[in-house]
Amino acid sequence: MIPYGRQDISKDDIDAVISTLTSDYLTQGPAVPAFEAAVAEYCGARHAVAVNSATSALHIACMALGVGPGDIVWTSPITFVASANCALYCGADVDFVDIDEHTWNMCPEKLGKKLEQAKLTGRLPKAVIPVHLCGQSCDMAAISALAREYGFKIIEDASHAIGAEYASAPVGNCAHSDIVVFSFHPVKIITTAEGGLCTTNDAALAQSMQLLRSHGITRDSNLMTHQPDGPWYYQQVSLGLNYRMTDLQAALGLSQMSRLRQFVMRRREIAARYDHKLRNSGLQLPTLIDQAVSSWHLYVIRVNPDIRLKVFEGLRKADIGVNVHYIPVPSQPYYRSLGHDASLYPSAMNYYEQAISIPVYASMTNENVDYVVDQILRLLEENR
Ligand SMILES: *Cc1c(COP(=O)(O)O)cnc(C)c1O
Repeated sequence: MIPYGRQDISKDDIDAVISTLTSDYLTQGPAVPAFEAAVAEYCGARHAVAVNSATSALHIACMALGVGPGDIVWTSPITFVASANCALYCGADVDFVDIDEHTWNMCPEKLGKKLEQAKLTGRLPKAVIPVHLCGQSCDMAAISALAREYGFKIIEDASHAIGAEYASAPVGNCAHSDIVVFSFHPVKIITTAEGGLCTTNDAALAQSMQLLRSHGITRDSNLMTHQPDGPWYYQQVSLGLNYRMTDLQAALGLSQMSRLRQFVMRRREIAARYDHKLRNSGLQLPTLIDQAVSSWHLYVIRVNPDIRLKVFEGLRKADIGVNVHYIPVPSQPYYRSLGHDASLYPSAMNYYEQAISIPVYASMTNENVDYVVDQILRLLEENR
């Protein structure tokens, strides 16, 4: 079976985890800050806060930005549910901005129109969470210009996009946002098994997120309300959670970071091979904006909705682990129960009827790619 995505674990990765496993610290040791420093440096961000998942990262990012009851957070309908759930965890409401037909990311024009409307009704968002679908950055210059005009915060959900670039700089540098979130789930670009991380250039936000990931507890006397009672002393100064990443995970992450460039380079080669071999297939292939260099977490093809199911089933039967990313969040029963209506997002629904994620991962061979292409072309021919 050729999966749609899979991790790449080397001897060095295994050695790194074993050496941490036999060290003094399985958690709250030196590996977490070392991993954070490596990601911050790679991205060109001032601060990095590692946590146990991107879901947790999104949650503490919302909390640190003060998202709460009475607030509203906007995101893309074409994303994993976690991009929207984080606002609900904070007691805020969620709304969605339809996607662009070509990039499949949140459409800045539709965002602008929705903001104009929201201003009239007094329901402007506290925060907007653009999602870099498949590893392609959203049009962040346009979105951040709107943030300045309408006064909302930006959390980039870059779960797919570590190693990607926007405007000739790494995604994660927070040049156009308050916080950027990465995921290190095994299907993503690099892995810590489970794991996530927030980057920010704002020292106060970083400090707030460091507290939130560990119960709101600090051992830093500068953050305490009075001098420590003694060397044992810590203070809880806010209501946090236990969202810490372990040192085992961070050791794996640090080791994986040394191959990030290599992973993304291979993913780009695979995407270029698909682009070339499928260019005359009649399928809608991924379209990149000028400023974006994708990390290619996913390669999505859009197939005529009349034959999408047949092609999907045919590929699965040919031992190709295709998938669909994503089911529009407002169409999920839970979101429907909150009053959401997916038909308000026609471009997202249109995309959902056509999308198939085909395999792309760093250890995928050219023979694997060619086999996938041959099977797609065969199924298109058979279902003409
Ligand atoms: C994977 C993913 C998440 C959640 O990541 P976890 O690390 O599994 O919590 C959030 N948003 C998007 C867009 C994702 O793809």
